[in-house]
Amino acid sequence: LTNNPNPHLINPFNLEYDLINKQQKSLAAQLPDAINKEQLELVAQPILNLSSKEIVSVEALIRWRHPSKGLIAPAEFINIAENTGLIHSISKWVIETGLAEVSKWQQASLNLSISINISSKDLLQHEFVDYIAEQLVLFNLPSSSLILEITESVIANNPEQSHAVIQRLDQMGIAVYLDDFGSGFTSLASLRNLAIAGLKIDQSFIANLTTSNRDNTIVTSIIDLARNLGFKIIAEGIEAEAIESRLIALECDYAQGFLYSKPIELHGFINWAKTWQPKQNVI
Ligand code: C2E
Ligand code: MG
Ligand code: MG
Ligand code: MG
Repeated sequence: LTNNPNPHLINPFNLEYDLINKQQKSLAAQLPDAINKEQLELVAQPILNLSSKEIVSVEALIRWRHPSKGLIAPAEFINIAENTGLIHSISKWVIETGLAEVSKWQQASLNLSISINISSKDLLQHEFVDYIAEQLVLFNLPSSSLILEITESVIANNPEQSHAVIQRLDQMGIAVYLDDFGSGFTSLASLRNLAIAGLKIDQSFIANLTTSNRDNTIVTSIIDLARNLGFKIIAEGIEAEAIESRLIALECDYAQGFLYSKPIELHGFINWAKTWQPKQNVI
């Protein structure tokens, strides 16, 4: 170790880090304009009842159609949005765009709810619950048309405040799901007290459900625990029929994954939903 590194030596790791940093900085600088310039888009991925294969909800997933970089995934800009405070206007845009979509579905006789990912920062905002209530009134939609997905970190970091907010949402009739369950730090004590509707099992456990004994044990236990606590269970990231069959055997409630549909563009969703036919299971 030296306190006086040779400035002429290039450290390849630093170089890579600087490059990532530079790209992040440039995205961060352009993100404020992305909303105004209508560069944000939502794609839709259906969530199905695993036994009947009926569509029960649709998860809204954000994309940034960047003029020169093309389609940017949320993993590349949501944390920037959270760190710069832009997340609140982005979440508002997602909620309002999502609810407008639910209205269109209703007009097309599709009675579906929209599942929206919200950031922990949103949940802890003072006016969040009132804002949600107001939007439902503005769109003239029942509270059952909105499902909120939150990650476990918010609960670990702010247990009391998040419990209170989730309880208010529950009292309003809005279902809250814990997303990516199993990959974070939710304590069993918090599960005992949370007014959530259910859990979404993290896709990392689902991917190897039929090939890893340990993942099978974990998923079996999560489903058992959730059921005994009165929670619904969504398995996400289902790509193969063998995995689907195993989840049916475990009596998992809901399913989401490429096996049924990749996220699709909103304008094509009504047509997709109207023509959706589950594959017949051949025995
Ligand atoms: P998530 O909420 O856990 O969403 C599921 C992710 O898994 C999505 O990635 C989806 O495209 C992907 N996925 C679904 N089925 C499969 C499958 O069968 N196989 C595989 N390999 N992947 C599958 P996406 O759209 O890139 O979103 C990543 C994450 O970004 C989301 O994870 C969510 O945490 C966050 N995100 C997405 N949209 C929003 C948003 O509007 N607001 C906020 N705050 N976060 C968002
Ligand atoms: Mg989600
Ligand atoms: Mg998830
Ligand atoms: Mg995820």
